[in-house]
Amino acid sequence: SESGVPGRVRVAVRLRPRNAEESVADADFADCVELQPELKRLKLRKNNWDSDTYEFDEVLTEFSSQKRVYEVVAKPVVESVLDGYNGTVMAYGQTGTGKTYTLGRLGEEDTAGRGIMVRAMEDILTDICPETDSVLVSYLQLYMETIQDLLDPSNDNISIVEDPKTGDVSLPGATVVEIRDQKSFIELLRLGEAHRFAANTKMNTESSRSHAILMVHVRRSLKGRDLALPSQNGENSHAKSLKPPVVRKGKLVVVDLAGSERIDKSGIDGHTLEEAKSINLSLSALGKCINALAENSAHVPVRDSKLTRLLRDSFGGTARTSLIITIGPSPRHRAETASTIMFGQRAM
Ligand code: ADP
Ligand code: MG
Repeated sequence: SESGVPGRVRVAVRLRPRNAEESVADADFADCVELQPELKRLKLRKNNWDSDTYEFDEVLTEFSSQKRVYEVVAKPVVESVLDGYNGTVMAYGQTGTGKTYTLGRLGEEDTAGRGIMVRAMEDILTDICPETDSVLVSYLQLYMETIQDLLDPSNDNISIVEDPKTGDVSLPGATVVEIRDQKSFIELLRLGEAHRFAANTKMNTESSRSHAILMVHVRRSLKGRDLALPSQNGENSHAKSLKPPVVRKGKLVVVDLAGSERIDKSGIDGHTLEEAKSINLSLSALGKCINALAENSAHVPVRDSKLTRLLRDSFGGTARTSLIITIGPSPRHRAETASTIMFGQRAM
């Protein structure tokens, strides 16, 4: 897809390094992929002498830093949110390939390890004017087509409200917290994670079986200020030379998707089967929507799942979407890796 064009999905792939177990157990085996980051290409091994080659908007290797990943995957989205547009960053991949590492790592002892959520908030807090602007955050879990509030565990069935005129999505029941500094944001993320763990333990499930969704509303007051206002043709003009909208609102949504692995349906209990069906439903609905965007189709089928209904105002129009697909190097997971790569390819 053309880079930086609103409405299109930018797709990056990130390979995580081998872990200790893979380094030992698979020492005699080559990785299932080979990356050519300068060419933005990935080769998926078919056998010892043959491979398929795929192109992405960005190819991030096992040596790519969290800073670089943020800069290529999320920074352009965050910048457009600060300009008053909607933006989404999503991570898709098999459990254990680095979705949460990429998006959610707090990096308190190791600031170089901070993930996309924390870096995005850093850029937002740096750019806004604390006297006139506000940053409001909600943190949710979507499990089995039910939206739960990770900031208030008693709030476990939040409904989605869509404005029929504008198509804007809101969650009137969700807790909203105003963020003024990075420390309170990190505390909020930690609290959300603790609530997520408790809720999942109670429901007897794993966090990899649900989607975690962070929403950041940035509301900027332009009154008396001279912010560059992006015009239709992409050039910057100045707020004071136009009839200024008094308020500019942008929304950033960061989605740590449920693990994309196919569950072996043989011998699993009814609950786990329902869970697997629900994940398949939402990930395939998401896939259909981003394929529709990639094909410039007028119809984006958002109604098929809660996940896509929630992301409705992030699809198309002036919204920007970045998808990072995460993969592991192990030859044992070649089939899952191939399926993740195909999901990413169809989005482009
Ligand atoms: P997921 O959220 O996709 O299930 P995680 O983010 O929990 O996967 O990552 C699984 C493990 O791999 C964690 O121990 C994590 O620290 C490690 N890991 C993931 N990506 C990287 C990376 N790029 N560099 C180093 N370790 C990583
Ligand atoms: Mg995870």
